[in-house]
Amino acid sequence: MLDDMLDYLEHIRERPVWQPIPQPVRDLFHETLPAQPADLATVHAHFMHDVLPYAVGNAHPGFMGWVHGGGTPVGMLAEMLAAGLNANLGGRDQMPIEVERQILQWMRELFGFPESASGLFVTGTSMANLIGVLVARTAALGTEVRQSGVAASGKRLTAYTSAGAHGCIAQAMDLAGLGMDALRIIPVNDQYQIDSAALERAIAADRSAGFTPFFIAATAGTVDVGAIDDLAVLADIAQREALWFHVDGAYGALAMLAPDIAPRLRGIERADSIAFDFHKWGQVPYDAGFILVRDGTLHYDTFASPAAYLRREACGMAGGSPWPCDFGPDLSRGFRALKTWFTIKVYGAEQIGQVISGTCALAQYMKQRIEAMPMLELMAPVGLNIVCFRYRSDHADTVNTRLAAALQESGIAAPSTTTLNGHVAIRAAIVNHRTDTRAIDALLQATLVLGKELTQTP
Ligand SMILES: *Cc1c(COP(=O)(O)O)cnc(C)c1O
Repeated sequence: MLDDMLDYLEHIRERPVWQPIPQPVRDLFHETLPAQPADLATVHAHFMHDVLPYAVGNAHPGFMGWVHGGGTPVGMLAEMLAAGLNANLGGRDQMPIEVERQILQWMRELFGFPESASGLFVTGTSMANLIGVLVARTAALGTEVRQSGVAASGKRLTAYTSAGAHGCIAQAMDLAGLGMDALRIIPVNDQYQIDSAALERAIAADRSAGFTPFFIAATAGTVDVGAIDDLAVLADIAQREALWFHVDGAYGALAMLAPDIAPRLRGIERADSIAFDFHKWGQVPYDAGFILVRDGTLHYDTFASPAAYLRREACGMAGGSPWPCDFGPDLSRGFRALKTWFTIKVYGAEQIGQVISGTCALAQYMKQRIEAMPMLELMAPVGLNIVCFRYRSDHADTVNTRLAAALQESGIAAPSTTTLNGHVAIRAAIVNHRTDTRAIDALLQATLVLGKELTQTP
């Protein structure tokens, strides 16, 4: 099995990025509950034949759809060790939790947070953003809200984010019981950053209408174009207005590791909470999200509960309090910290930073290539690692939607699409450390060929 996966990664360039799943293969997974044992080798062969070839392909250098990390063999091996150990990181006195605390310490160091800051591995930034909203809700309404609910407070909390923010911010408002309507969507400027003057106007309007503004969610690296909000300006506004300052840095926050990009995150060190993923730019295998909270006590007070079966002791296995389960909704938790620890130790923070810089340099290369191709046009500024472009046509939206799907089905490259100012754009998000100029050239070449085909045959 190990040989197969190492071979898979070694020869991934020879495979299609993605291929449609044939119906007979899909049907193989509609069998009834197997009562009898099967040979491990047979099940493994089934996996190799029917699962592995039909994954989404984000380990492939040609994968540029959405914002997905590439993973590494080191992370894969660490996952094997973690699975063998089968540690449950909800709590108790065990070294795996010290590994998680080590990562927390590194993240405090990276973001300039104090020793009292807390942090937790979670599935991804969607969950991390939810935790950010919940801790901010405690800051605004006190721990009482956990018992009596939001309505009993009599306050109508409002939150603020940009039109470029990820949909999970609105979902976090929903799940926190505050409602998506309470999230004010602030327009963006021509660099796709939140319009700070519009933000201030919205806060003032809400205050005079009797609402209680409590939360600003900035984005460091928007999913559609890779914009970074002006975090220092937002930190000033949050401070002046006494609002919680949260940064959704899902993939962008780790650009702190890249000396050429880190200055653009100035102000992130003033955040009250930062949500980010190790599984995107950090190249750690899925899943490995993280939430960092400046006020560790408030974070603890938002989630800790006194269940008798989770009693803490000064010694023995029930020692080592507080436990990770005191900082989030999960009790049973896997050892996500191990693959992250291995990745950072083996490659080193500098090399991960170089990968991040490298993907941004590739985006600039791609931008220049597009500018030199008369049939293609750029659709947004290229500030980070995401390039939005389209094939020129009188029916551009239809053509480019079909073109993105045709590119994916070709197996040559896998971009995705987004809508910018009402127009469909093909979007290449360069996140994977394996992506290189060859992969970019292959995508652009295939775009020209398939674009021509699509516009010639109606
Ligand atoms: C990917 C992403 C998310 C969601 O993170 P998950 O790890 O997929 O849950 C949120 N915000 C931004 C800006 C993202 O890029």
